[in-house]
Amino acid sequence: MSQHSSSKQGIMSSGLNEQYEEKVRPCIDLVDKLRSLGVEKDLNLPAIAVIGDQSSGKSSVLEALSGVALPRGTGIVTRCPLVLKMKKVTKNATWHGLLSYNDKIKKLKNPAEIEKAVLDAQTALAGQGEGISHEMITLEIKSSDVPDLTLIDLPGIARVATGNQPKDIGIQIKYLIEKFIKRQETISLVVVPANIDIATTEALQMANKVDRDGNRTLGILTKPDLVDKGMEETVVKTVNNLVIPLIKGYMIVKCRGQQDINEKITLVDALEKERKFFNENSHFRTLLEEGKATVPLLAERLTKELVIHITNLLPQLKTQLEQKLAKTTDELKVLGDGVPLDKQERKNFLIMKIRQFNDVLEGVKRAEEDLKNSDMRVFTKIRQTFGQWKQLLDQKTIKTEEILRDEVEEYIKNRRGKELPGFVNYRTFESIVRKHIEELEEPALKLLKDVTDIVHNCVNTIVSYHFKAFSHLLRAAKDPIEDILENEFKNAEEKVKSQFKMEKIVYSQDPLYSRQLEAVKQLPVNATLVDVGFGTRRVKSISADIREMTQHLKAYLMITSDRLANQVPLIIQYHILDQYIFQLQNEMLAMFGRDNAEDLLREDSDVARKRKELKDRLERLKDASKVMSKFVKAPY
Ligand code: GDP
Ligand code: MG
Repeated sequence: MSQHSSSKQGIMSSGLNEQYEEKVRPCIDLVDKLRSLGVEKDLNLPAIAVIGDQSSGKSSVLEALSGVALPRGTGIVTRCPLVLKMKKVTKNATWHGLLSYNDKIKKLKNPAEIEKAVLDAQTALAGQGEGISHEMITLEIKSSDVPDLTLIDLPGIARVATGNQPKDIGIQIKYLIEKFIKRQETISLVVVPANIDIATTEALQMANKVDRDGNRTLGILTKPDLVDKGMEETVVKTVNNLVIPLIKGYMIVKCRGQQDINEKITLVDALEKERKFFNENSHFRTLLEEGKATVPLLAERLTKELVIHITNLLPQLKTQLEQKLAKTTDELKVLGDGVPLDKQERKNFLIMKIRQFNDVLEGVKRAEEDLKNSDMRVFTKIRQTFGQWKQLLDQKTIKTEEILRDEVEEYIKNRRGKELPGFVNYRTFESIVRKHIEELEEPALKLLKDVTDIVHNCVNTIVSYHFKAFSHLLRAAKDPIEDILENEFKNAEEKVKSQFKMEKIVYSQDPLYSRQLEAVKQLPVNATLVDVGFGTRRVKSISADIREMTQHLKAYLMITSDRLANQVPLIIQYHILDQYIFQLQNEMLAMFGRDNAEDLLREDSDVARKRKELKDRLERLKDASKVMSKFVKAPY
């Protein structure tokens, strides 16, 4: 440990070696570079968060690690997450501090300015009083006396609200802490005073809840000088990971107590005092010898942990970055580049927008649309639906062959007149035919509804995609979309209905009918097999007249089936696809003629803002991606 004993300049000043410069520095630099690009807005970066109950010594540990005095006092002193970025620079470089929050940046000339600057920032973000905020304050310090580390200080866990604190302050703070420590990217430093029963600390329980395996949790015991006589061995056991075991284990540090501060003991002197304390304490000396005690060793340990952590996270980080980049590019493409300012150019822009839209509609109509944004062509979907209609008709005619026989038999049994067997009663024929065709009307109307839905969905998607950035244009286009479709739906519905009305007239051209009847008569004589349910069939003798009538019915129904298989889809296609799209295109073109045509292009202010945001993000992610790929290629 002698390397630290002479260290008056700072805690990492002599622990550095070549390996450090080669391995540690690039890793930490990488994350720092990403952070300074602002990538934290898009991705969670590897970080170390300090959590603990109020007054457990969090700020003291941070202070000791960073060599800078942070605000301290009683109650909730840390009211916003404070990102403390420490960067080690060469010995003679001047101290450099930068405090930033929201869009504000404040340069700090010396460590003495930190406390006030942080307090001011907290007041700006979390207001006067004792409320908290999720907004981050970043404090960047470049000095020869600090380790290369970034730590996040969080408000302490408060048990009860006091004074003018919000009633639910405890819950608010826990929620804020959890937000940070539940991220896979965060290592939690759980600060626990050595002079209390560790099992009762809420911070350790919280860390355990979000990090069950304990892979990301390191315990830090503070205030070893305040441990009651006789309790020292319990503390040693805790540090040796025998009380509440954590995979990463524990370290113990002694920071400045209130008296040290009153006596104005400097942080550097405090480190010396700390070393002396551990060295001279018969219980704790072994911990120092095993490398589990003192602030300088903690700093070293943290840097190491952070490097391992970063290395492990890199592949995942890279993938996330790529995904985000692709998503942003897509989103930006949809928003487009914005509208020109010049009046004539705006008009041309509108014409172009509408032309593009109409072209896509034309593609849909001709079943030639570009498939980039959808799974299947609209016409392919419609064709499938039409196919189902044909299937339904086929099933009806096939099924009816058997039902027909029963029906005819029944009919003849009950209503046969004077006629001799074999004479077909035309009335019988007609009424059975009508009954069967009537049953098809409802499915035909459902077909119309289904196709209308397909076309409607498709057109809606297209219009939203094309006019997303222009809410006025979008609204202007949506009205005709609904109106025209409703109108064409009515037209189609009327035609389908009157088709079924016409089908009540039993009609077919003589030669067509004769041909179909011949064909039916040629069918194999399995007609004598009758299904009696439960899969059993029995042979049934059928009289000549029944067979004759059944053949007529079947022939006619097959003709109607063919007719409807074509006619209904033809009507639907004409109105719902051709007429609808044709009229919609005309309506769109008519928009040019409006007085306020260019007004349709007025962008919502949030679209412009969104575009700017996306562009910024894209820039940022691209830069980050460059930084990453350079690093990954490096031979570490
Ligand atoms: P925080 O609320 O968790 O940030 O706790 P602070 O860092 O403000 O510490 C609370 C009090 O404990 C302060 O008065 C510190 O001086 C004191 N303190 C912190 N660490 C030690 C220590 O190791 N020994 C002693 N004696 N006091 C300490
Ligand atoms: Mg504090």
